[in-house]
Amino acid sequence: DNRKEENVEVMVHEIVALLLPQARLKNVEINWKRQEKHKIYCDRSQIKQVLINIVKNAIEAMVAKGEIEITISASDSELEIAIIDDGPGIPEEIIHKLGEPFFTTKKSGTGLGLMITKQILEKHNGRLAIEQNISKGSTFKIILPLPSD
Ligand code: ADP
Ligand code: MG
Repeated sequence: DNRKEENVEVMVHEIVALLLPQARLKNVEINWKRQEKHKIYCDRSQIKQVLINIVKNAIEAMVAKGEIEITISASDSELEIAIIDDGPGIPEEIIHKLGEPFFTTKKSGTGLGLMITKQILEKHNGRLAIEQNISKGSTFKIILPLPSD
């Protein structure tokens, strides 16, 4: 078990840096505000994998250009990382299938990214929430328990 107390902003910063070249190629901007430090108890490589899976999907969903916003917020007991895109959104009839093994709408997709994402979040006593935006695109929320100290 590689769980330790980890800084959320550092992990987000690292995956944004990793995916920026791919985003630029598609004219996709990634915006987020690096605010005060949030800490969670987690396996950092697994939570970074979750972030990569979701942000990569958002980049891939964009057609010509787009914008991805990442927000980090916390309540008393939970941390929420929201990845908000202004892409085409998710058709109503497939929203419940996301995260099923091998479900993909891409020509060369594996359909495993969201399944792995859900598994990792469950192991961390967290969850994934998927929402359709009111205006345009979709929002994927990573919800994780905060250390209770
Ligand atoms: P893959 O990326 O290999 O297709 P995933 O499990 O990562 O597999 O995603 C499954 C499906 O969920 C995608 O094929 C796509 O249809 C849908 N999806 C995921 N993220 C988004 C998004 N941000 N906007 C629209 N559709 C999405
Ligand atoms: Mg994917």
